[in-house]
Amino acid sequence: MSERMSTGTHDRQWRTELEATLTHEFNTQTARLTELTADTGDPAEAHTKAALIAATRQSLEQITGALRRLAAGSYGSCERCGTAIPPERLEILPHARFCVPCQQKQNG
Ligand SMILES: [Zn+2]
Repeated sequence: MSERMSTGTHDRQWRTELEATLTHEFNTQTARLTELTADTGDPAEAHTKAALIAATRQSLEQITGALRRLAAGSYGSCERCGTAIPPERLEILPHARFCVPCQQKQNG
């Protein structure tokens, strides 16, 4: 078990690292989408691909949203109730838009 440092001194670095992570993820997903949308001429693959393309597009939207919130300074706050999303959660899911209870309501 490790206690995460939450002092302000680390904020800037944390932000920079997060931005780099999200940007990297954005590039990865964009490359993936390009690959997926490339026509292989195999109709059997088209169906499987459609789901993957949709999932990749959704990921891209989430990443873009996170980067936008980061730039706007609203990153890390739940979009639904405004509560600060726990850093542990953001570490696992950097593009999380909701706190855990709101996310559960969203899914339910
Ligand atoms: Zn919430």
